[in-house]
Amino acid sequence: MKRKLVVGNWKMNGDRARNRVLLDQILGGMPSGVDCAVCVPFPYLAQVNEILEGSGIALGAQDVSEFSDGAYTGDVSVAMLADWGVRFVVVGHSERRTLHHESDEVVARKTVAVLDGELTPIVCVGETLAERESGVTEQVLMRQLDALAAVLPSAVLQRVVIAYEPVWAIGTGRAATAEQVQAVLSFVRGWLARHVEAANEVRVLYGGSVKPETAEALFGLPDADGGLIGGASLDAPSFLEICRAAA
Ligand code: PEP
Repeated sequence: MKRKLVVGNWKMNGDRARNRVLLDQILGGMPSGVDCAVCVPFPYLAQVNEILEGSGIALGAQDVSEFSDGAYTGDVSVAMLADWGVRFVVVGHSERRTLHHESDEVVARKTVAVLDGELTPIVCVGETLAERESGVTEQVLMRQLDALAAVLPSAVLQRVVIAYEPVWAIGTGRAATAEQVQAVLSFVRGWLARHVEAANEVRVLYGGSVKPETAEALFGLPDADGGLIGGASLDAPSFLEICRAAA
């Protein structure tokens, strides 16, 4: 049985003092039986890397450049992340797709860069509310996923983590229902089955307003391998309860 993966996405939150308190609390209560990572803002990678050392909680980043080096002011390369002990990189979060206009193709190229650097990309896919209401959820997911398959051979694609994050559920307090989530996860699993050899080994996460009260039902879904947690990952008791629900 695959261990579940719970990933905290701190977004643009934290400072050195608060990070230390939050992580001390998380480290003090982390259950065994679940894989866990925290994706922190770039300036705190060094600090968090040091705090997490030897703990079993992995370090993650929230974005990366598709390029390896050069004149890309403000950007950060995969090698720089690896240099600080990063193992997971969130790619194509809806906030990046929307606020930074990242296309499916840019997200796919970033995914290639992360895999080339031997790190694990957590590729976010998901529909907006308007897309769901007009009945095109599966077409949107297919387009986002097909962009990955266009640039990644099957054996490499096998190493991605997919996070299904309906845009309308992120940061809104309105999680998708278990039925809605399972329907999409099963669609993603079907897509994987057509593109990789061992579709069941690819981790597929759900993200979008996961709370301690909803985590168990969501993680218990047949195709859910864990979650990507935004707001609730900033509160140690909530995050730990979510991790326990996955353990
Ligand atoms: C996220 O940022 O990926 C996310 C799922 O946020 P939240 O849990 O706050 O909805």
